[in-house]
Amino acid sequence: METILQRFDIRENNSGVSTGAQWLKATGAALAVDSPVDGKHIANVTTADRANYDAVVSQAEKAFQEWRQWPAPRRGEVVRQMGQALRDNKEALGRLVSYEMGKSLQEGYGEVQEMIDICDFAVGLSRQLHGLTMHSERPGHRMYEQWHPLGIVGIISAFNFPVAVWSWNSMLAWVCGDVCIWKPSEKTPLTAIACQRITAQVFAANGVPEGVSCLVAGERNVGEWMANDARVPLVSATGSTRMGKSVGAAVGARLGRALLELGGNNAIIISKDADLDMSLIGCVFGAVGTAGQRCTSTRRLIIHDSVYDAFRDKLVKAYAQLRIGDPLDENNHVGPLIDKAAVSQYLQSIEQCKAQGGRFIVEGGVLEGKGYESGCYVKPAIAEVENSFPIVQHETFAPILYLIRYKSMEEAIALQNGVPQGLSSAIMTLNLREAEQFLSAGGSDCGIANVNIGTSGAEIGGAFGGEKETGGGRESGSDAWRAYMRRQTNTINFSTKLPLAQGIKFDL
Ligand code: NAD
Repeated sequence: METILQRFDIRENNSGVSTGAQWLKATGAALAVDSPVDGKHIANVTTADRANYDAVVSQAEKAFQEWRQWPAPRRGEVVRQMGQALRDNKEALGRLVSYEMGKSLQEGYGEVQEMIDICDFAVGLSRQLHGLTMHSERPGHRMYEQWHPLGIVGIISAFNFPVAVWSWNSMLAWVCGDVCIWKPSEKTPLTAIACQRITAQVFAANGVPEGVSCLVAGERNVGEWMANDARVPLVSATGSTRMGKSVGAAVGARLGRALLELGGNNAIIISKDADLDMSLIGCVFGAVGTAGQRCTSTRRLIIHDSVYDAFRDKLVKAYAQLRIGDPLDENNHVGPLIDKAAVSQYLQSIEQCKAQGGRFIVEGGVLEGKGYESGCYVKPAIAEVENSFPIVQHETFAPILYLIRYKSMEEAIALQNGVPQGLSSAIMTLNLREAEQFLSAGGSDCGIANVNIGTSGAEIGGAFGGEKETGGGRESGSDAWRAYMRRQTNTINFSTKLPLAQGIKFDL
């Protein structure tokens, strides 16, 4: 890890405030970053205070004046080079993600791969930021629409995807002509510093103005400054529903734009016509991958009565084979939770589940002893529950899987939709009618609905996000770029008259 820290110039004490090549003297509180993998202290990061934050916003405002004039394909060329720089740093950054956040090495690499993929996507997009043309009702007139950059995009990110979520936002925002200020999770500021160093090198080689990529490390107060700041026209916030309600209200009160990517409570329906062996892989990976700390983690399995017992037994057998331990060791399936606070939430949820009538068929618990010194390793658990239990309605960010029984497809869909969140959903079935029913307007109410694939592991090509308490935002692929731009409708009169719309006469 030493050489990786050196590669990104991460020392014992680091400023967490930067406008690109420049690192400001940060004067906020210091964050001590410890690894959940082995509990060791990695480094300290000094956060932004209000004066640091204001200095960064001023520099970003200046940078926007210039950056928005660059042709979009030229901005795309810079993002193409970002993709190359990320390829060059994939192994080092992936390892740092794994060590700072605790996800498996494969998932750490996968996260950097997502960043590379979104760069490729954004490069193509830089030549396709197109609007429509319309036929005018007036003779000798032409109408069309065009898309302009918004200005500063504030990015607030969660700990569980410490770097990919930033890139989903920033690569698109940059080709759109916006400038970005990133407030990473206070639990993972080191990977953010590493990304800022990679970006600074690419930007310097291309003469990108100082302030196009900014970093303001800090706790939630820094996010609150952003949410309340009218100089930040778009705040893209990823995290808990509690955070989203606060950010959404603050941004809404000033009529700014908020793109919210919040908590999920994702279910897979296991139909009587499911391929059970294939389903098992999707369910187990969905429930225990990233130790159940993905927004798209599988939290509920809604299983048909006729296959319930058989599938439950398969799950119990599979869970007995899970290897829990150091995520940097590729033989392990499950790494640690992010910190001890997450461990106590996990334990509390288990207690609440039992108190509400849940029956654990795979018991949870905290692992102790050699290799588990950080105190953050927990056993993935499975409980038989009712969907209506308050604990089942709530997103617990840990590997606890709830099993629910159903008899009819209508009932299964009602159970799947019967939670406040609406991020990801799936059905395992070989029955075309059931699959189409699940995908129809009366089917899943989530932003993501899959057939014969689990709930986690989205591709960047599609628009990513969810409904209801997940916040309604969409980012990454498809036409999600529109959120980062403002639409302008233009009407041009090339006739010798000035006819008014709707046939209104105004003769002088
Ligand atoms: P969190 O809500 O505690 O923190 C997320 C970020 O928001 C952090 O940077 C934090 O400092 C900031 N923040 C917290 N309160 C704030 C406030 N009032 N104003 C402004 N900023 C504030 O979430 P977390 O524990 O880091 O991440 C886990 C949560 O994120 C889960 O609920 C998970 O489902 C969700 N998540 C959602 C997606 C998605 O795309 N839908 C992706 C990843 C994570």
